[in-house]
Amino acid sequence: MNWSQIISLVSAGNYMEVEKILQDYPYIVDMADHLREQKLKVIANLDTYVKRTMDSVEKLGGHAYLAKDKDEARKIIGDLVGEKKTVVFSKTNVAYEIGLREFLQERNNEVWETDLGEYLVQISRGWPTHIVAPALDMTREEAAKAVKKIDPSINENSKIEDIVAAVRKFLMSKYVKADVGITGANAVAADSGSVALVENEGNIRIDTVMPPMHIAVTGIDKIVPTMRDALDEVMVQAAYAGIFPPTYINVTSGPSSTADIELRRVSPATGPKDFHLVLIDNGRLEASKNEDLKEALLCIKCGRCYFSCPIYRTLGKEWISTKSPYNGPTGVMWNYITNKDPWPASYCVHSGGCKEVCPMKINIPEVIKYIKFIGSKQVGK
Ligand code: SF4
Repeated sequence: MNWSQIISLVSAGNYMEVEKILQDYPYIVDMADHLREQKLKVIANLDTYVKRTMDSVEKLGGHAYLAKDKDEARKIIGDLVGEKKTVVFSKTNVAYEIGLREFLQERNNEVWETDLGEYLVQISRGWPTHIVAPALDMTREEAAKAVKKIDPSINENSKIEDIVAAVRKFLMSKYVKADVGITGANAVAADSGSVALVENEGNIRIDTVMPPMHIAVTGIDKIVPTMRDALDEVMVQAAYAGIFPPTYINVTSGPSSTADIELRRVSPATGPKDFHLVLIDNGRLEASKNEDLKEALLCIKCGRCYFSCPIYRTLGKEWISTKSPYNGPTGVMWNYITNKDPWPASYCVHSGGCKEVCPMKINIPEVIKYIKFIGSKQVGK
């Protein structure tokens, strides 16, 4: 299958699947509307919510940090991890945004992506095609060729189940010796300091509980006012990504703990001894104060707008730089916010499909129009 065949197939599949999910679970639409209102409150007072979130994490016995840019984030996480460690990553776009995997590898750490798609991207030395399905452009034969490097019994005739089993076996050998688990966050609750993550593979669950240290790294746009909002966000994200109900929802509130003796809560228990939340600004605070750009911060990274976009369907991952995990219509907005790169916006033909399918009702074409205007001012400079 070529890219055109793959994207036609998955776009139609995603559209129909999401429509069916919304029919079967009609309350998801109300949850999305409520979530939009709650996220708008945070965007209007981002500084306050960042402080509230960090205070809540510290109250739980965790540690919270605010990094203003990529360099500061890498320094904080690099100091926490140290050298010659085994680190397991769950799929985290923000870690990709700051170049974290390469940074930790340069410091003599062994680093493994544990999301299957991201792992395939890592071992084939490519870059993500889609925010939810990073190896979307890879056929079964290409995945088999990549996995043959770790399991010689895999060949181009291997079934998908066999390829998945080979990766599972390989990653299990890494989990058992991992010193640090690094995850992203679908949402962070300001009132409780809890990190919510949604997944299907089970790798995030292992990454968050098996290594003695868990570091969650995410953008300040992922903060929501309450724990209820955080749970709403993972449900809405999963539904609009077309995979519902999700196999796992993980909530982490500080290091592991127990209250089994005299009902007094102590830490650590069986899970991680240390929990760190690294919040990254990298252009988000500035965007929250910009009337033309701030709506982009509502994005919950469901990836649905990609499938509605004629430019993404034509160019695929070639649309946006290898240094960015963000592609498609939302990628145009996020590439500008985090990299100050306006050029991907110039390809947009304003078909408007992205706005129609977005659960957060982001007026993506208007935001892109503003980014195009910024780009036009830079021409000739
Ligand atoms: S812009 Fe909307 S549709 Fe696109 S990834 Fe974000 S929330 Fe999903």
